[in-house]
Amino acid sequence: MSDPCLQIAELLRQHQSFLVLTHYRPDGDAVGSQLAVAILLKQLGKQVEVWNDDPVPAKFRFLPNSDIVTRPPDAPKDFDVVIAVDISTWQRVGTVAQRIGQRKAFINIDHHVSNENFAEINWVVPQAPATGQIIFDLIRRGGFDLSLDIATCLYAAIATDTGNFTYTNTSAASLRAAADLVETGVNVGDLCRHIYESYPYARVQLLQMALADLTLADHNRIAYYWLTNDMFQQSGAKREDTEGLIDYARSIQGVLVAVLFEETPDLGKIRMSFRSKHPKVDVNSIARHFGGGGHREAAGARITGVPHDVEEKVIAAISAAIKDAGL
Ligand code: 5GP
Ligand code: MN
Repeated sequence: MSDPCLQIAELLRQHQSFLVLTHYRPDGDAVGSQLAVAILLKQLGKQVEVWNDDPVPAKFRFLPNSDIVTRPPDAPKDFDVVIAVDISTWQRVGTVAQRIGQRKAFINIDHHVSNENFAEINWVVPQAPATGQIIFDLIRRGGFDLSLDIATCLYAAIATDTGNFTYTNTSAASLRAAADLVETGVNVGDLCRHIYESYPYARVQLLQMALADLTLADHNRIAYYWLTNDMFQQSGAKREDTEGLIDYARSIQGVLVAVLFEETPDLGKIRMSFRSKHPKVDVNSIARHFGGGGHREAAGARITGVPHDVEEKVIAAISAAIKDAGL
């Protein structure tokens, strides 16, 4: 049996105890996919644990079963099957990796073009706009029941990774999946109010500070700004509040690449988010150059360095990529 979808469906039916993982600092696709798989397994009467180094961001806590996510235990634990969702490189699972004891099967379900196929069964679909879309396929082709709880998690997953169905990765298949999920009973208005209209005021204050220093470079084709440790402290915003902040830089007319630099509490470690608005500019390869990865249009990396030097190096690399693309 070579179809990973059917192979995975079989493993889910066969085994009893499961661990479901996603990357640290989880986004909507990560949380939605992780919860959808966990709920599916519970519906099948299986034992399920769901671990993450970081908690479920507040705006996703309305999702069914979001309280199932715990920090990993201190001592390693054995499972029949370990399932990783939306994780491109195994290192992005964080400290969780050290708490996994014996396992009979290891599954990797993901949509990153940079996925390192780190498991035994790798179901990687780079054309899928979200991992949630692949889970949707698993449910349909695997012959599982699509409950309202699963549908809600999958809608959140697909909506967030497609920019609420606005990015170029929005496909006929993702809109069809969305239609099915709505038919199952998902209330789009309620869900979007939770995800997009329930930000803490501190996030707006953080954005206000950051936008004050928005910079345009390379003939206004690159837009970037910084989130400094000071800004987090002054605004009271949390790290999880940064999701979507890069959209303000990408929304500017004429901008081809948007970058968000974030100082992290780890001394000298800088997190970067990249977005491309031009099909010829591949930010995944730019991110890879700095040790990260992602997709052609949305990628990220973490590097160690002095902020000013990092900024100079990264903006120069983006300028070079724009030039290489003949733009
Ligand atoms: P975001 O900018 O929203 O954090 O991430 C955009 C995309 O890039 C996501 O698909 C995410 O998985 C990927 N990404 C973000 N940060 C990193 C990183 O440090 N390393 C790798 N390999 N991928 C990243
Ligand atoms: Mn994703």
